[in-house]
Amino acid sequence: MNDFNELINGLCRPFPPETYQPRHDGHGVYIPIRYYIERLNQVASDHWSHERVGEPIFYEDDKFVHTVVKVTIMGRSHMGEGFSRYQTDDKGKIINRHYAIRSATKDGIRDAISFFGIGKDLESATKPTAAKVKENERVDHSIQKLICIKCNRELSDYEVRLLQSHKVKLTYCEDHIPSHFLKK
Ligand SMILES: [Zn+2]
Repeated sequence: MNDFNELINGLCRPFPPETYQPRHDGHGVYIPIRYYIERLNQVASDHWSHERVGEPIFYEDDKFVHTVVKVTIMGRSHMGEGFSRYQTDDKGKIINRHYAIRSATKDGIRDAISFFGIGKDLESATKPTAAKVKENERVDHSIQKLICIKCNRELSDYEVRLLQSHKVKLTYCEDHIPSHFLKK
């Protein structure tokens, strides 16, 4: 077995069940991207890298950003596509642009490494497409999923109640809510 295959085998080791999260659309499970990045850093260390290719594209109708990402592992590369939703203020200006791009780029890394076979067992459940994002968008409108404007993480019921109880209009997760909002 050569070094490349050995590395890929190490990257493809199953993740512990406690890393599995239920998907937001209710279909199956996914593994948050931070676990993949942790794995890449542990197993491949400086033998892997990623770069965003071209400029991110913002789709205003659906409020999502699309990025193309190239992941290289030991000199071999695959391209991936990433998507992330963004939020706008009441004038239509994007308020979490930087985080939305980062989040889409991470999603693109997940997509790119799937072409190396990493996360293959979950691939059918996690592979994003524009159509799927639009579908989710429609679902999300009906159930009002809220995401943090800083990190794009979906808010828990507790966090939504926390914002409501302090009459905070913007959506922040517990980690990013500015402390002065909580002093009231
Ligand atoms: Zn946050």
